[in-house]
Amino acid sequence: MARRGALFGENGEPIAGYARVAVERGLDSAEGGLTYAVPASMDDAARPGRRVTVPLGRGSTPTTGFVLERMSELEEGLEPEKVKAILKVEDALAGLPEDLMNLAKWVAAYYVCPLGMVLQTMLPAAVKRQTGLSTKTLVRRSAFARSPELKLTKLQRAIVDAASETQWVPRKRLMEAAGAKTAGPVAKLIELGVLETREVRVVDAELESPDWSQRGATDVALMPAQRDAVDRLARTLGAFAVSLLHGVTGSGKTEVYLRLIERLRKADTRAGVIVLVPEISLTPQAVARYASRFAWESEQTNPVAVLHSGMTAAQRHAQWRRIRAGEARLVVGARSAVFAPIENLRLIIVDEEHDASYKQDQLPRYHARDVAVRRAQLAGCPVVMGSATPALESYANAMRGRFDIVSLPDRVPGARLPEVETVDLVEERRERAKADPKDQRVHLLSRRLEDLLARALDGGGQAVLLLNRRGFANYLACPDQRCGWLMQCEHCDTLMVYHLPESALRDPKSKDGGVVRCHHCLTEQRLPDACPECGKKIVLFGMGTQRVEQELRQKFPGARLLRMDADAMRSGRDFRRALWAFQTGQADVLLGTQMIAKGLDVPNVRLVGVVSADTSLNFPDFRASERTFQLIAQVSGRAGRGTHPGRVVLQTMQPGDPTIWDAAAHDYVSFARRELEVREQAGLPPSSRLARIVVRHVKKVEAFAGVTRLHQALSAAVTQLGVPVRLVPPSPCPIERIADHHRFQVLLFAERAADLQQVLTALRNVIGTVSDAHTAIDVDPVGLL
Ligand code: ADP
Ligand code: ZN
Ligand code: ZN
Repeated sequence: MARRGALFGENGEPIAGYARVAVERGLDSAEGGLTYAVPASMDDAARPGRRVTVPLGRGSTPTTGFVLERMSELEEGLEPEKVKAILKVEDALAGLPEDLMNLAKWVAAYYVCPLGMVLQTMLPAAVKRQTGLSTKTLVRRSAFARSPELKLTKLQRAIVDAASETQWVPRKRLMEAAGAKTAGPVAKLIELGVLETREVRVVDAELESPDWSQRGATDVALMPAQRDAVDRLARTLGAFAVSLLHGVTGSGKTEVYLRLIERLRKADTRAGVIVLVPEISLTPQAVARYASRFAWESEQTNPVAVLHSGMTAAQRHAQWRRIRAGEARLVVGARSAVFAPIENLRLIIVDEEHDASYKQDQLPRYHARDVAVRRAQLAGCPVVMGSATPALESYANAMRGRFDIVSLPDRVPGARLPEVETVDLVEERRERAKADPKDQRVHLLSRRLEDLLARALDGGGQAVLLLNRRGFANYLACPDQRCGWLMQCEHCDTLMVYHLPESALRDPKSKDGGVVRCHHCLTEQRLPDACPECGKKIVLFGMGTQRVEQELRQKFPGARLLRMDADAMRSGRDFRRALWAFQTGQADVLLGTQMIAKGLDVPNVRLVGVVSADTSLNFPDFRASERTFQLIAQVSGRAGRGTHPGRVVLQTMQPGDPTIWDAAAHDYVSFARRELEVREQAGLPPSSRLARIVVRHVKKVEAFAGVTRLHQALSAAVTQLGVPVRLVPPSPCPIERIADHHRFQVLLFAERAADLQQVLTALRNVIGTVSDAHTAIDVDPVGLL
């Protein structure tokens, strides 16, 4: 039986009730929050989602947290005299709306992460710290401005004319509009009462306004398939539903999203929409496409908010406030935008839903696509996910009837899918040696690829070359097979990669030797001259984007080349600039890693070359085939978007691999059917659900002891609960050691996610904090190294 607690708090103030507060620390022990008394003066403010300061522990240290729920009575077992009171409630704009609190609880439970940490992720630090918040004066014309006796100077008159009687504008903007160079005239008008003022708290960190010239065509006539898609998707508006828009690259999916949003907003101008896109495709052009469609609603305010990781703290805060205040009704953003505090949410779109960047690789390890589905369910609105290469998880859901599938089988009028040809690299090597036995050079480009590249460039076309590996060579070895020395990282069980200095690429005579780097722990050292075991000169095997660049420079000295990979592009800004340069024809060949495979819509691309399809095919991960198919399909999708037909050359040592066949035939359905069967037989996702727990420690025995304890606790939980969960006993991770830490894993398979949840929750209750520096739980893992 609950009972009433004390009526008065420590300082004599009446108590209006109680609240559960999640303190913002990694505390896992108090999952439901800690109980505090709510002083009467805070009764209205201390709603769920609001940020509060509470006394914590023996010393009553002031600690921040979130109100989880309110209670009028104190629960059993708590002594009213011992319940402390909330100290302070923060501004509403610094907290979370109530519906997000429910989502947070789900994320914490599903991804096995302390609730406080989930809340921290949901509310950006910039919002909490109120970064960039300042007071600004807004002005408008008063009724007195109409007074006929008013004597004004010419400039004053211009200012009055520029001011609106209904709309408040910043002082600065009015000065600019009227051409006033100093603040004096406006101040004088305020003093006279001709202008009235209002103070507002704002964050002065607007983003650059979108480049309207990049909006793209607004009045294209939809193809019948697009029209059907819009109609079908529009029918799902108003209730929870998930649709998968499966459209080949360049089939006009974005146009379908835009029309759907337009329909929604015509029916309900207050409707909130979230559009998720992979971080890398969040270019100014993409944003302009969304922003421009809704400009007709209001010339003054841009109804689109943007959220991505490249923003300053103040910019993020500014965007957040616009969303929270209801000014922005459409949020376009990367992964974390799934938590945007938009009200009256009526639609979520997840573009390129297969993209691995939707999964966060640190706590909370959430998948934005899956969180989007949950959020839509809570809000009672539909989700539309789109892709040319749906994740097998999504496709399987569509096959099971959980998602509705809507297809766009053709490209937009005028564009055709490119013709794909495969080059067998083993045969190519043999043939080349036969044709020119004296040629000792390494050739990463086959003669066919060289030939087609020359033709594309001669015809004034552009080309895209993909190699999903950075650096120059990834295999540094002793030439003497009896010695067998291989350059490995001292801190990881991985091979070191040789990076040539960028200057040496441009100047072949450069003497700079470059560095050898580990891509996992980032250790670097100079390239050793000789084998440390036997003293022979080291040879460089393997390939990387730098090596392709070098070869292109030798074979196509006239071509303007652009390389895009994590070494050449230091920031999102570098990336957007390079993309822009290629889009505007300032480069002929774009060479890079997977970052070039996404979203690029350049009509003049006539050739796409995949330098090696094998790098991703041989990856030690059960999703290797799926990744390879996606990568090839996406990069091929860059060709043939204009009037010139596109061509794709696929180089591989495994031309008989069925994934390569299907990719060459643009046959997603054939690929998906076969691969789903393979997964089914192996009991792998999506035919099962997977969770992975990794234990790491600098001492191998400790890591092993830790993983064994964990496995025992899990086994006990499975037996006790009697749930159908299969445990794979401890084994070393595919990369056994990273940055001097030994790594072991336990895998959990189940048919239903709920069964995995039960076991993981039990584990959490038994051993308390399970996610710490040594232990990482990953539910629905995407990376498995
Ligand atoms: P996707 O997202 O499927 O790759 P987009 O929506 O970006 O495709 O469309 C590719 C290009 O085709 C864009 O430049 C777009 O403006 C254009 N487009 C879309 N629909 C049509 C249409 N019905 N007719 C002509 N062009 C279209
Ligand atoms: Zn390393
Ligand atoms: Zn040697």
